Amino acid sequence: MQVSESLIRSVVEQVINQVRNSASATGATATSNASSSNSGIAYGRYGLFDNVDDAVRSARVAFEQLRDRPIEHRRRIIEHIRRISIENCVELGTMEMNETKIGRLEHKIGKLKTLGEKTPGVEFLRTECYSGDHGLAVIEHAPFGVIGAITPVTHSLPTITGNAVSMIASGNAVVVNPHPSGKKVAAEGVRRFNQAIHADLGIDNLISLICEPTLESAQQLFKHRSIALICVTGGPAVARAALNSGKRAVVAGPGNPPVVVDETADLDHAARCIIDGASFDNNLLCIAEKQVFVVSSVFDAMMAAMERAGAVRLNAPEVERLTHAALQVVGEGADAHHAPRKELLGQDAVKLAAAAGKSVDPSVLLVFGETTKDHPFVQTEQMMPFVPFVRCKDFDECVKCAQQSEHGYRHTSIIHSRNVRNMTRMARAMDTTLFVKNGPCMAALGLGGEGYLSFSIAGPTGEGVTTPLTFTRERRCSLIDDLFILGNPS
Ligand code: NAD
Repeated sequence: MQVSESLIRSVVEQVINQVRNSASATGATATSNASSSNSGIAYGRYGLFDNVDDAVRSARVAFEQLRDRPIEHRRRIIEHIRRISIENCVELGTMEMNETKIGRLEHKIGKLKTLGEKTPGVEFLRTECYSGDHGLAVIEHAPFGVIGAITPVTHSLPTITGNAVSMIASGNAVVVNPHPSGKKVAAEGVRRFNQAIHADLGIDNLISLICEPTLESAQQLFKHRSIALICVTGGPAVARAALNSGKRAVVAGPGNPPVVVDETADLDHAARCIIDGASFDNNLLCIAEKQVFVVSSVFDAMMAAMERAGAVRLNAPEVERLTHAALQVVGEGADAHHAPRKELLGQDAVKLAAAAGKSVDPSVLLVFGETTKDHPFVQTEQMMPFVPFVRCKDFDECVKCAQQSEHGYRHTSIIHSRNVRNMTRMARAMDTTLFVKNGPCMAALGLGGEGYLSFSIAGPTGEGVTTPLTFTRERRCSLIDDLFILGNPS
């Protein structure tokens, strides 16, 4: 999507004016049972809540109202979410960028627009049917009720948008505990979605949100007796917390996606794909290319291809300077590991290069350099547009290193090759939820490849790219000995 600087500037001004005005506007529409806060938010309406109990109770009311409506109403609700996501993508994407201060504006905008266009809705639902001598069995996919969702800072509003479409398509309501660093844009998006849904269909709070989210409010959601299912999108700590919650959970956990390039690959194409994927939103995607293993016979040619495609190579001392600036050791003893420093997470390549002591043009999207296979940049989910390249003696060593660097998350892996046998061997060895061949990571989500889109990819619990069916309970309705009209059982 092309967005000019002047358009962005004018939208930023509009956003600032709207944010100034929205508090009073929202307050003016509050009903008597809604409360207001110092920040001017009118709690209790349009999905905005200051505590978990009220949010869950209101979402439950919304769920019960939706349960009594035809499927056509779900379709209309999803149309509102899609329309707002597309029509407001510049404004909301700009808000998200200004609030979170990570990623790239054009991609924040693009993510919202694409979600509006590509997230599967009601049309994804299906009914299965078995008929035979003993009659008819119809299998339908029913909602759970109220789902508790935890969302990440890397795609604050996009994750909520995708989750809301999938969950409402299958008849659920949702209460979201957003990441604290993306809570304002989350609240603004949720308010707009609910306002449009309420104006059209008279149902409020289908998507409810805790406006001041904390770890405690997340725990409350995990334990709440009216929450039927939880859906968590985030890193290792929250994934573990969800798995230990005692409640049924859909867990979209962390990744550290490796790329393998063998001697049969189209190196220029591979370079363009790696730059596109690894620089998208400054490498915030959980599916993004994070480290590359190249067979030694084409290693130097691959590095040259990366430079031809516009990435800038850092030399060894520059890579080491960047490592110290970008990564830090956290945890103690056996738990000690590297983690990205906040100051450089999701920042532009020009800033990473500066930290490495190199000056590059601001148009550069990605920096890269050679490292060893054990380097912290290889082993850490770094979420910044620097990609380490590792020289491996052959394909087997590439796959072994890729497996090791993926840490068993079974999230995403990528190969560039024309050798189908190598593709097969790597796919089996990695056993990842997404396996991309000869494309950028986004192609696995239908962006330049086939298939549908979601921003919650559930590896640990096995649902894969989540859809409306992920958030359903299977129900069977059996009619005994009748309505089988093909046979004539005696
Ligand atoms: P994060 O784990 O820091 O936070 C995610 C959410 O979990 C936030 O709302 C946070 O407040 C909450 N949280 C964190 N620890 C918690 C705990 N112990 N109990 C309850 N809630 C807790 O992650 P982030 O930095 O916001 O996002 C990046 C991470 O998310 C990366 O690891 C990335 O791979 C992952 N991610 C995965 C997917 C996927 O689909 N699999 C999608 C996007 C991001």
